[in-house]
Amino acid sequence: MTQQEIRAGIRKVTEENSLENTCRRMGIPKRVWDLGEEICRGLQDRFAAFDQTAQLNQLKVLGAMQKNRISAEHFNGSTGYGYNDAGRDDLERVYADTFHTEDALVRTQITCGTHALSLALAANLRPGDEMISISGKPYDTLEEVIGIRPSRGSLAEYGVSYRQVDLKEDGSFDFEAIRDALSPATRLVAIQRSKGYLTRPSLSVEQIGEAVLFVKDLRPDILVMVDNCYGEFVDCVEPSDFGADMTVGSLIKNPGGGLAPMGGYIAGTKECVENCAVRLTSPGLGREVGASLGVNRSFYQGLFLAPVVTASALKGAVFAADLFGRFGYKCIPDAQEKRNDIIQAIEFGTRDGLIRFCEGIQAAAPVDSYVSPEPWAMPGYDCDVIMAAGAFIQGASIELSADGPLREPYAAYFQGGLTFGHARFGILKAFTQMCRAGLIEGFADPD
Ligand SMILES: *Cc1c(COP(=O)(O)O)cnc(C)c1O
Repeated sequence: MTQQEIRAGIRKVTEENSLENTCRRMGIPKRVWDLGEEICRGLQDRFAAFDQTAQLNQLKVLGAMQKNRISAEHFNGSTGYGYNDAGRDDLERVYADTFHTEDALVRTQITCGTHALSLALAANLRPGDEMISISGKPYDTLEEVIGIRPSRGSLAEYGVSYRQVDLKEDGSFDFEAIRDALSPATRLVAIQRSKGYLTRPSLSVEQIGEAVLFVKDLRPDILVMVDNCYGEFVDCVEPSDFGADMTVGSLIKNPGGGLAPMGGYIAGTKECVENCAVRLTSPGLGREVGASLGVNRSFYQGLFLAPVVTASALKGAVFAADLFGRFGYKCIPDAQEKRNDIIQAIEFGTRDGLIRFCEGIQAAAPVDSYVSPEPWAMPGYDCDVIMAAGAFIQGASIELSADGPLREPYAAYFQGGLTFGHARFGILKAFTQMCRAGLIEGFADPD
């Protein structure tokens, strides 16, 4: 072969493997890819701001690990009772230092976010106490925890009563109504940061801080618990920085960084966290027991990666909001609004739109990409629900995933993406799926 032939061969191979050609092979037409490029260019400032927040949170987590002198021994797990598990105990110190709280409980035995919240409530409320949600209706699964919908083992069965103060029309706290709702029986006030499956705006940490200070000023004896699910590391501060007694979340969302295979956390005051520990295991045993098995390293490493993983998910969320916003689909929040969590709601308005979008997300997954999501009658919902997820960790919503109830306004709740590269691809794949179904104006034939 001549020198010239060799060079031509190299050019050909390089061209065949260009990003654009690779994407085309993966099912993204050039026009769609180019549109994605344009959107990314337009979002550079927003992306830089997310990176800046991730940088700060990276230092916060790193500082907490260094302060607690984490070493290789911390990655050894325990079995059986789990006595003297330094990895587990010091991880709790790391969480407490990251969230700037006196204490934290971070356990494999906390099975999910709902369990962590249920534990925080049940451990700190007693018969005759009243709890008040001041951010309106709480997340669906908490309805049975509290007993809003009658349920076996609910707080209501144990004589804990419940009241609710709705957010105002504009999504802000109704301070007057909160003041009126407090009674001598009120023991705990609950606040949910993320919108969950509602289309209200998510609350900012500043707003939450204001509400905590308002309640504490009126009644220093009242405990404030914040459901922080999907909110961790989105901002430079957390609800715990403003005096919330308990800040609660799931490790298969933001703080697990995609590596934690299960678990939940409660960061808060010594008193509240101690109550949670004895309730989780048993009075007298408390936090002394609870084998970590082999997960300590995943918990540490996941927390270490969490700030950057959260930033990737945020980039995916605004990328989707920008893309679908351009074609008239309502996005909550829109591409320019401040982010308070990683959830992106997109209203498709039609059954077909929602289904095509979810099919695209599923087709882009690293796991189970060959299956097609089908709407089904999920327990607890009054209509069919469609879910798209192809995750390494079952149900982990820090990984690219989408779901939505098949009713007006046919909104998909989309979240996650361990890397922005994957989130971007998944969104373009979903967009292409919608193009092919004739749902995107001007893109009926994207190829
Ligand atoms: C996910 C979530 C929960 C419950 O977490 P699970 O791990 O699904 O039980 C509670 N509250 C909010 C706001 C959530 O997003």
